[in-house]
Formats: sequence, structure tokens, C-alpha cells
Amino acid sequence: MCLIAAALVWSSAPARRGAAPLATARPSPRIPAATATAATPTPTAATGSGPQRLQGATPGPIRLAAPLLTLGRPFAGDGLGLKAAPSYPYGTTGGGAYILHHGLDFGNPQGSPVRAVAAGEVVFAGIDSDGEVYGASNERFPEGFYGRLVVIRHPLLLDGQPLYSLYGHLSRLRVARRQHVKAGDAIGAVGMAGIALGPHLHLEIRDHAQDYGRTYNPDLFLAPLAGEGLIVGRVSDPAGKTMPKVAVNLFKLDDKGKAGWWTATATYPDGPVRPLPELDENFVLSDLPAGRYRVVANAGGGPIQADVTVVAGKASGVELRRKVSP
Ligand SMILES: [Zn+2]
Repeated sequence: MCLIAAALVWSSAPARRGAAPLATARPSPRIPAATATAATPTPTAATGSGPQRLQGATPGPIRLAAPLLTLGRPFAGDGLGLKAAPSYPYGTTGGGAYILHHGLDFGNPQGSPVRAVAAGEVVFAGIDSDGEVYGASNERFPEGFYGRLVVIRHPLLLDGQPLYSLYGHLSRLRVARRQHVKAGDAIGAVGMAGIALGPHLHLEIRDHAQDYGRTYNPDLFLAPLAGEGLIVGRVSDPAGKTMPKVAVNLFKLDDKGKAGWWTATATYPDGPVRPLPELDENFVLSDLPAGRYRVVANAGGGPIQADVTVVAGKASGVELRRKVSP
């Protein structure tokens, strides 16, 4: 989606990613105590060739098999233009300000070249109301939900399903259906077509080209930027079931162990966004400089927290499990 656009003011955003303007999600004013109370530090062996389950995992680096963490960014260059808006992650409503997000938003200026995140074949390049529907609903929007968009099928499989990337709200198309592209090829330009309120790119990863309900969190597929990693987490109840719509705050720990607020998100609701089946995550915090962090979930009945080390180029997994029912 992308009513977020108006809130994306990267030109004035401070260098620290987490300090970009949040919609309505605000960090807890209370810095958590240094004692970690996260649950169950029981290591779980990875199974098969898929990603490692988070349930019961010790906080720290986990193995995510390709195509996870392998795709390029949809923009060239460096800096904030490569990073999605931290105020509106996948599976959140930006603190209640927007509709549930099925992708990530990149706030680059109108006309900026948008690039393929991996090689593949263009399966759609057109307007989201030309007989094929890719967004949630095209009613009320003459250009459809995503307006001008491109969908690419990649020769990559996830659970036996082909992987697609979708680029929405474009001002211009630079490819046509059935065209083959390489990673990094310019496929269009940033715009505000469809429901967007301002120029930005909406990026999705799907395992079915035309199904709005078949997305995954793109943060799990994009390769970390130099010196950075990500945290993949799940907040769960005492029975191990994921808890929806729980506020999650992230604090960075300095070398003395003091915590400073970094960013915030919320756990996925119960559908229609999806965790990776093998991982069963319900939040991801991405583009984090390597270092020590404290993750705090406000799941009712007091915060649940754990300290996590983020390693450059890797995902760190953490499960925050409630010990007793709220
Ligand atoms: Zn969006």
C-alpha cells in the first residue's frame, strides 16, 4: 500500500535509521532494565535445507538458506535510499495510521530509477486495472490499487513455489511483459500512481503473481547492506503460539550496556500477511548496524525482552515467549 508516502521525508531524516519519523508508533518511554527475561534459551537444530525455526532458538545468528537474504535493493547508490521506511514495516499499520502493509516502502524521489532485485522475466508491466488485478481493490481508483506496476518472476523457488517481486506506484515503465531482466536493471521510475499519496516505491515479494494474499516479508529476502544485519523474531504465548499486534521496541546497547531507543515495529496480525512457514516469525527489524541490541515486546502483563547480537550480513533470531498468560 502506500498512503505512507506523505510521511516519508528522507531528505530531512537523520542518519540513524530508527529515528526516521514514525507514524503513530512511539517507543516506550521506559528504558528496560538490563536483566534479560526472555524465555527459553534452548537451542534448536536447523531442519532440512530450509530456514531455521525461531521457536526456542537462542538469541543470535541463525541460518537462512537462499533465496533468503540474497536479493538486491530496488535502488542503486548508497545511504537511506537503499532502505525501506522503518515507520511502516511489512505486516504493520504504521501504528494504526495506514492499511495493513503487504510490502515495504522506499521513499526515493519521483522519477528515481527502480531496479530489479534479481534476474527474471517480467510477467506484468502495466496498470493495475487493465484486466489483471494485483492490489487489494481497484474500486475508486482509476489507475487501480498499485497504479502502474511491474511484476517479475524469478528463477528462484521457495517451498517449490516460484518467487515474484512486485514494484508499485510507478510513474513510468521501462520494461514489457515477457522481457528478461538482470539484477539491477532499471525497470521503471518512482511515482505515485494508484492509491499512493506521494512518490515512493512499494516493493512486495510473493509466491503467486496475482494474489494479494500471497506475500512474504521482503526484509527476509533482501541481502543486508555492508556492516548491517537484521533481527527476525517471534513473540509467542506460553503455549508457543504467535501473538498478533504486539508492540516491539528495539534498543541499541552501547559498550557499557546502556540502552538507547532505536526503532519500533509490531507483530503481524493473524493474516492476511504471512510468516515464512519454516520460520514462523512475526516481526523483522532490518538494516541494523552490527552490534548489541535489546528487543522488548509489550505483550501485556509486563515487557518480555532479550538481548541480541546483530552480525553483519546475517539474520539473528529471537523468540520472546510469555511465561504466563496475560
Ligand atoms: Zn507500500
